[in-house]
Amino acid sequence: MHELSIAVSLVEAAEEEAAKRGSARVSAVHLRLGPLSGVEKESLLFSYHLAAEGTPLEGSRLLIEDSPVMVFCAACQTRRPIRSLQSFCCAACDTPATDVVQGRELEVVALEIIE
Ligand SMILES: [Zn+2]
Repeated sequence: MHELSIAVSLVEAAEEEAAKRGSARVSAVHLRLGPLSGVEKESLLFSYHLAAEGTPLEGSRLLIEDSPVMVFCAACQTRRPIRSLQSFCCAACDTPATDVVQGRELEVVALEIIE
């Protein structure tokens, strides 16, 4: 299961970071997730709790912030959202989008640590 291995690496990374700061426990992990990351949110949330069991992250929360897909539109010469994931076109002028600048994120943006 794809999401479980991602959840395990998230937990390991958070554990490491908490250890570096001389603290043993993490109360929450904030994650930014794009729809093009290939990760299913519900599945990741479920896997996270399994992965956190028996670690200093047990009982912590995984807070997922959705990162919308943004493209650089050649016609508008600026960053634009897309019309939809099914219709991959600039939301302003309908030019087919080729240059994705945001939406593939899977990154930890913050950790809440219990001192
Ligand atoms: Zn455009």
